[in-house]
Amino acid sequence: MYEPKDPSTTAPTGSNAVQQPSPNDQEQRNIAELRRKIAELEAELAGASEHAAANDGRGYLQDFATAMGGWFWETDAELRFTYFSPSVQDITGVPPEWHYGKTREDFGIPDSVAPEVWAEHLACLRRREPFTDFVFQRRATDGIKWMRTSGLPVFDAQGEFHGYRGSASVITAEMEAKLRNDRLISAIENLDEMFVLWGPDDRLVVCNQRFRDINAKVIESVQPGVLFEDHIRTAMASGAYPSAAGHEEVWIQTRLAQHRNSGTPFEMQRQDGRWILLREQRLPDGSTTTISTDITSRKRAEQALAAKHDVLETALTTIPDGVQVLDQDLELVAWNDRLFEVLELDRDAILDRDSPGQALRRALAEQGSDDTQTAIEAQETMARAPGPVQYEQQLASGKWMECRGRPIASGGYVAVYRDIDESKRLYERLEHLATTDALTEIANRRSFLDRAEAEFDRAKRYNRNISFLMIDVDHFKAVNDRHGHAIGDDVLRRAAAACGDALRDSDILGRVGGEEFAALLPEANAETAHLVAERLRLAVAGLSVETTAGALPITVSIGVSTAAGARGNVEEIMAEADAALYQAKENGRNRVVHFSGSDMGVR
Ligand code: GH3
Ligand code: MG
Ligand code: MG
Repeated sequence: MYEPKDPSTTAPTGSNAVQQPSPNDQEQRNIAELRRKIAELEAELAGASEHAAANDGRGYLQDFATAMGGWFWETDAELRFTYFSPSVQDITGVPPEWHYGKTREDFGIPDSVAPEVWAEHLACLRRREPFTDFVFQRRATDGIKWMRTSGLPVFDAQGEFHGYRGSASVITAEMEAKLRNDRLISAIENLDEMFVLWGPDDRLVVCNQRFRDINAKVIESVQPGVLFEDHIRTAMASGAYPSAAGHEEVWIQTRLAQHRNSGTPFEMQRQDGRWILLREQRLPDGSTTTISTDITSRKRAEQALAAKHDVLETALTTIPDGVQVLDQDLELVAWNDRLFEVLELDRDAILDRDSPGQALRRALAEQGSDDTQTAIEAQETMARAPGPVQYEQQLASGKWMECRGRPIASGGYVAVYRDIDESKRLYERLEHLATTDALTEIANRRSFLDRAEAEFDRAKRYNRNISFLMIDVDHFKAVNDRHGHAIGDDVLRRAAAACGDALRDSDILGRVGGEEFAALLPEANAETAHLVAERLRLAVAGLSVETTAGALPITVSIGVSTAAGARGNVEEIMAEADAALYQAKENGRNRVVHFSGSDMGVR
């Protein structure tokens, strides 16, 4: 015995009532047709029922219901089912007896239809009127099914109501086809593109709103049944294709040929200036779809890009810098001629190579380094760096160039090369002028003091010794007076050179006054400083400056001070050295005196 778990209590599609699909025109025609058929059936059924009653049996009815692909049912006056023909079990899997004593509510049917549809159905039953084509959903053993039923009220000879009898059938396949169709139509309506389907006879079958919108002026030419050619001609007459002006017929023939051979997409401009991309496709059944995309914004972007490209092109050819643009694979995608001039490379030799990007890197690497491979890799690393890079490089010719590179947001790298040779030389010249004494070519006072401060700070930080020498040429005024300024200058130059030669590279020598020099000796304690000072004194004393009046003896006096652990500051240590120098002069010149007061004496 079949015992379903009351298949009717669950609403087939959850708690939401299933909306009766809203019928389109075709569907409406179908329904009208069905109504007519059912009316015929009802008439026959009514006759059959009488016949059956007369025959006191339902065999005839059963045969009849089975023949129509459905089943026959009866209810009592309370609308409880009293009979189902056996075919209901063949079709739904549910045996007839299961239904008996139950109403349509008991099957959960009200939940499967829209509330107003159910209300209308109930009202019809209450009025004891016939009903046709009531569509609902019910759970069968093999899933949820769409069903359709029609019924007639039954009255006896006295006019007393005895219930309903009617027929039902499963219409799932039909409903699914309709839903599929509805979904297709809705998908077509929701396309971003304009869509038209032309039948095998080239007449419009269906189109979407976007297509109707663009043809709003010629809406009569986009109705179902209109021939493609008529549509084109009507649109042409309304001025839809401005590019056809003057050769309309040729245009139409070309368009018809395109339509017949539907293949390559093509672009066209409409009278409102909008650009359309048309793609036509012939379907196996001979129909044609036309899908048109509005590409106006893309066209505008292309035009804007072309304009932008012109600007860039002009900029590239006029700027004084060399430019190279690389893509993600570091391949050269843009450059200007100036690039090869700045980098002193053979343009054609590089551009003719399979990979100009690589050729350029190699040529550049060969200019600047002995290890070409490492230099190439360094360039590639820079081109892949996540942030901006900047470096200077000397070319084979000795000229300097500067490179500024930065990654491109969308991938790749752009680098600008500038010839900085002249500016670099200018800068170096200026720096030299600003820091060097023109006469002696040693550090001038300003530069000496800057460097002394820095060195003193360093010594202080690391608690190192530092010593200071103040050097003054003895009786220099007399040299000037007796031999002239030019000889005086020569003496200063040679004394400075002699001092420089006697110092280590880490020592700092500067001209701090007319004929006064100073030396800062990092790491030197008092003893070392004295030794160095003595070496200087002797180096100068050993100079032989020839004059017309014979060899001119030159001597210097030197004051020394030492800051153990770099105590105090530069001014203090200089003042101490000055005091020691004064002492050296006092003590007879050509000697070294340490600030402590001890005169190291003349040798
Ligand atoms: P002392 O031994 O006491 O140092 O005697 P001095 O003659 O060297 O003394 P003073 O410092 O008075 O003299 C320095 C002279 O150096 C004065 C100035 O004419 C001269 N002088 C300063 N700068 C220059 C220069 O650039 N070239 C030349 N030829 N002479 C200079
Ligand atoms: Mg002096
Ligand atoms: Mg002097």
